[in-house]
Amino acid sequence: MGTAAETPFPNQPPPYADRNLYTDDVALKDALVREGGAWAENAIGEWGATLGTAAVLALGDTANRHPPELATHDARGERIDEVRFHPAWHELMRLATSAGVHCLPWNDARPGAQVARGAMVHLHAQVENGTQCPLTMTYASVPVLRRAAAAFPQLERDWLPKILARDYDARAVPVAAKRSALIGMGMTERQGGSDVRSNRTRAVRAEDGAVRLNGHKWFFSAPQCDAHLVLAQDDAGLGCFLLPRVLPDGGKNAIRINRLKDKLGNRSNASAEVEFDAALAWPIGDGGRGIATILEMVQHTRLDCVLATAGMMRAALARAIHHARHRVAFGRTLATQPLMLEVLADIALESEAATALALRLARAYDAPEGHPERALARLVTPAAKYWVCKRGPALAAEAMEALGGNGYVEESGLPRLYREMPVNSIWEGSGNVMCLDVVRAARREPDGVAALAALLDEARNVNSVYDAFVAALLRELAALADETAVARRIAQGIATAVAASLLLRNAPAPVADAYCATRLAPVAFGGGAFGAMPLRGGDAAPIVARALPD
Ligand SMILES: Cc1cc2nc3c(=O)[nH]c(=O)nc-3n(C[C@H](O)[C@H](O)[C@H](O)COP(=O)(O)OP(=O)(O)OC[C@H]3O[C@@H](n4cnc5c(N)ncnc54)[C@H](O)[C@@H]3O)c2cc1C
Repeated sequence: MGTAAETPFPNQPPPYADRNLYTDDVALKDALVREGGAWAENAIGEWGATLGTAAVLALGDTANRHPPELATHDARGERIDEVRFHPAWHELMRLATSAGVHCLPWNDARPGAQVARGAMVHLHAQVENGTQCPLTMTYASVPVLRRAAAAFPQLERDWLPKILARDYDARAVPVAAKRSALIGMGMTERQGGSDVRSNRTRAVRAEDGAVRLNGHKWFFSAPQCDAHLVLAQDDAGLGCFLLPRVLPDGGKNAIRINRLKDKLGNRSNASAEVEFDAALAWPIGDGGRGIATILEMVQHTRLDCVLATAGMMRAALARAIHHARHRVAFGRTLATQPLMLEVLADIALESEAATALALRLARAYDAPEGHPERALARLVTPAAKYWVCKRGPALAAEAMEALGGNGYVEESGLPRLYREMPVNSIWEGSGNVMCLDVVRAARREPDGVAALAALLDEARNVNSVYDAFVAALLRELAALADETAVARRIAQGIATAVAASLLLRNAPAPVADAYCATRLAPVAFGGGAFGAMPLRGGDAAPIVARALPD
């Protein structure tokens, strides 16, 4: 690593590159080992090294500077509905699929496999987020497709082996002729996204148990995927269907891409508006149970929103500390100025808490059905999705500011992280919808509350602020009425309490105590800005030192 003195112009920090993103990150390493993924450390270390190279960081930048283009027709006026990507996108997809980011836990039954993959997602998020969309959806589709395979043998024969392959094959050919396959998800329509019961797309029974779909999807990300799981109405109600991009005979399925969205961020990824004109699809799961069927996929994508946001927080934090250690102002490096130290330490707390929470949550997905961990996941997933994703944009803005004017300029990487953050809060269930889900789960599923209470109990009697916070939270959960106005507070309370319990049991005391003092104490979050709650002077330095090696 260079120093400020070695750069051609004094006082401009060297680029943040050619570092191992995994071995640099004590919080991630600790969480991986603690939650059962130690056996994957070598592979994850390699993934962190690959992602941290200047060459791969540049791929992330290039893929976003050259967003995908839609080609609706060929030279003869025939519809082709093709999305064309920059080679940087394809290279990132190739790297991620060969690392197994889309499939690791489904191919490896070892305990901790979800945690290992979670660490990989966390690291990938630090480099490029558009590619995460099809990778996440593909990962999340597997439990649904496996469950449906008994009634639809084609899934086991043609689809699952290709989905689980550590390979990338972007060709638009029938799945039987592919080396690998990607899966997307189509629920949101113009008249409603959160309320998918309002879906109007119609499924009409057709030949050989298939259906023909007529209608549209208003958001249909990664339309280049080999198939999408979509919701549509049939005589039984709202059902779930597997909609292939290419027909088994090699013909194009009747999916018209009207346009690609012009988005705030996530620009490397194509998010389309599509229409179905008697498009062929196959029913998945029980008739009329489409929401219940696809919900399992949605829950896994929500886990990825938490993991990816924690990863982006880490990326923003590391760049801010790196800059502050090299930049001198008023005669001292920024990192030694007490107020900057408070800000960096506060960001580091948020980042470490998000990482600990995300990997603990991933562990809950390793448990078999019926295990209390699954009830815990049901309650904590929407809470963590709400809170971690809500903190992301504020953290990215603060980290950007730590770089001063350089932070506002694209080459620093901070503007892309900043633009990227809000989408994880919006898609896969926006903030309010997540909080309402938390309240619903807390009221209807006592097993989840019991599992939460047991987890929180493990950290009792160490920190009085934590003990008081947890007692009040559990009291409120036990008496939860049908009062949705408190839902945000409840969701935040669950997410911060779980994060605090993990830090109290596992992180050094300055980290855990400062987190409790600034997040759980009655006066916490005064004004909401990072660094506004002094961490009691000397406590800030070890927090920042822990966050990034010099
Ligand atoms: C980049 C991008 C890509 C996407 N890709 C896909 C995709 O591939 N497939 C797909 O199906 N969808 C996709 N979406 C859609 C996304 O999942 C929806 O936008 C999201 O679920 C919200 O739905 P909506 O836009 O209809 O908003 P609405 O449902 O209208 O909600 C608007 C706001 O109201 C709030 N709200 C809703 N109900 C309540 C309530 N009862 N009480 C209080 N507040 C409430 C919500 O939290 C939200 O903040 C994508 C979205 C984006 C931005």
